[in-house]
Amino acid sequence: MSDPNIDVLTNESVELLQALIRNQCVNDGSIDSGFEDRSARLLRDELESTGVDMQLYEPTPGRTSLIARWPGTDPSAPALCLMGHTDVVPVSPEGWTHDPFGGELIDGEVWGRGAVDMLNLTSTMAVAFRHWISSGRRFPGDIVYFAVADEEAGGRHGAGPLVDTEWDALQCEWVLTEFGGIPMHTDAGTSMFVTAAEKGLGWRRLTVKGSPGHGSMPYGTDNALVKAAEVVRRISQYRPAPQLNELWAARVAAMGLPDDIAGAMIDAERLGDALSFLPPDLARNAHACSHTTFSPNVVAGGVKTNVIPDSVTIEVDIRTLPGETSEDVNQHLRAALGDLFDHVEVEILQEHLSTASPTDNRLWSSLVDSVKVAYPEANVVPSLVTGGTDARFFRDRGAIAFGAGLLSPKVDIGEFFTRFHGHDERIDIDSLRLTVELWMNIVDRLWD
Ligand SMILES: [Zn+2]
Repeated sequence: MSDPNIDVLTNESVELLQALIRNQCVNDGSIDSGFEDRSARLLRDELESTGVDMQLYEPTPGRTSLIARWPGTDPSAPALCLMGHTDVVPVSPEGWTHDPFGGELIDGEVWGRGAVDMLNLTSTMAVAFRHWISSGRRFPGDIVYFAVADEEAGGRHGAGPLVDTEWDALQCEWVLTEFGGIPMHTDAGTSMFVTAAEKGLGWRRLTVKGSPGHGSMPYGTDNALVKAAEVVRRISQYRPAPQLNELWAARVAAMGLPDDIAGAMIDAERLGDALSFLPPDLARNAHACSHTTFSPNVVAGGVKTNVIPDSVTIEVDIRTLPGETSEDVNQHLRAALGDLFDHVEVEILQEHLSTASPTDNRLWSSLVDSVKVAYPEANVVPSLVTGGTDARFFRDRGAIAFGAGLLSPKVDIGEFFTRFHGHDERIDIDSLRLTVELWMNIVDRLWD
């Protein structure tokens, strides 16, 4: 059902999104970046008039997060948390058509870093939350609004510590966060992906040892860099078996592919060939959704042109699938490196297992029904994202978490994904309207 206030709420969402973009909470991964304090205080001021119970948390100076809690009428009813991060990734301004931090409204689109990741959601969530409280709505369960810092660098100054230390304030059974609701138009109809799982992260540093010597006499020496080059080559050539789980089958079915390719995509023997028929962007994503991936991305070693290096380090970005453990990562490396494995020291840089939420629950059915208010014919598909989000901290606590949102039919899915961390990030007003309406429709159904 469309809310009569929806125009007002849409305008409020536009204005709040513009203000959040202009706050430039750019997180470059260093502790002295982000400055989310600006947006945490802005959001606190936005919610002040409701009198809702809220508090700012600053686990690291300047990296402030806001938690607001609107109590429900039934203490035994499950609580819902709406979580939006306030930080954004850096920009390369020369690649942009308009000011990346101007928050300008141009031809029905709000421009700026964060417009799709994820200030669009952070702003619409705040506007919906404020609306519920100020209109006197009470729901059975509590509703928590969590504007969190440092998502873009792994949550070490945000959701990570706060889920641990402030669980009393955050406590919830259900979480909605980034991202989903991006329509994909295929010959078989419209598919709508909603995030139900994310890959794990198993970053490793490999140290390859050798023996130092004079660069003028390389014959027969044990050069760590030469060995490291072979390690990198073997990792890049490694082809682990695909994992063809239910999420993968649902994804393939929703892609609207010709029958022969769709059939090959769910056959471990033929998947590799099938991927080569897809457009490169789609193939890259499909490969990552069905395989553990290994990307050697940083190398360091050597001291001087005339010294044979005795130590080289290689950092590998490894992304794991649901069910894989830390030991599985080691097994993969052993298989990839073969006899070289014993010449390499393996160190864990960061690790988080893949997380997933089940779909046989009220949050999922409310989400599906609410998407269908706007897209009655859509096939809503639970999907796996290849990157990490703060949802994992809540899933580890036993909460059910989905990545949602709702975009207008104007948005082309391929082009849309290039806006994530890319140039010319922007969002159309219709998508903001659909998203704020989505939050309204979900809470109307959640405790029914
Ligand atoms: Zn994000």
